[in-house]
Amino acid sequence: MRQTPRPGAPASPAGPRLRAPQEPQAGSASTISRTTLPPRQHIRCYECQYEFNLTGRMTSTHCPKCRASLDLAGYTIDAECREILKTLGAIKITPRGIVSSSALVATDLDLAGKVSESTVEVFSLLTIQPGADFIRGNIRTPDVKLQPNAEMSLKNLAVFRNVEIYGTLRTHLYSTGTVTLRAGGALFGGVYGGHLVVEDGATLIGEVVIGPEGLARVEKAQTQAAMYQRDENSERVMVLSTAPAPATAAT
Ligand SMILES: [Zn+2]
Repeated sequence: MRQTPRPGAPASPAGPRLRAPQEPQAGSASTISRTTLPPRQHIRCYECQYEFNLTGRMTSTHCPKCRASLDLAGYTIDAECREILKTLGAIKITPRGIVSSSALVATDLDLAGKVSESTVEVFSLLTIQPGADFIRGNIRTPDVKLQPNAEMSLKNLAVFRNVEIYGTLRTHLYSTGTVTLRAGGALFGGVYGGHLVVEDGATLIGEVVIGPEGLARVEKAQTQAAMYQRDENSERVMVLSTAPAPATAAT
């Protein structure tokens, strides 16, 4: 099935893009492969920000407002990638995936690989896996999830909406939404905001300011963070794996 552009529709705004074949073959050498995505209800056009609802299982659609062709597919990046890729689906960067001199736009990003010298715009959730390696200013995301066995330190100002911690996070964390510390998760440093959930079995060591005073601190941090031009945050983050080494008989 080939999609033909509507007459009068703007040219593909993404420029050259790497599209995997409709049915990628196992062992194919392509950098990016597509995956199917469950039907998505609420959509925001990545060209004009218009929001609308869509039902059904499709891999692309058109924005009813600006007519841009919108990709809804999910992609996996499993090798070096220098392509521009825009989708309303999710992008997954595997441990072998390296994104450099590139631009990505996606609703969700799952990062186990490396991102450098790129702009990555995530509309919803950035999931950080052990082994992830990135420059702070390269990635913009409202929500963050730190996976189990992932240990991450953020030295520069860390302001997000919702943060869910299964792994270990070392930072002073400012949240405009909810911070959820899952059983087995750990936060060292501080947490400021309006909502904090700490599950039984989680570790929290640091300053905790939750409530109106916490939100006031977040507001202050946001102002400070806005003074950072996004590309100026050159802090490199290398996420360690804390998975226990496999048991050996040599003891
Ligand atoms: Zn649009």
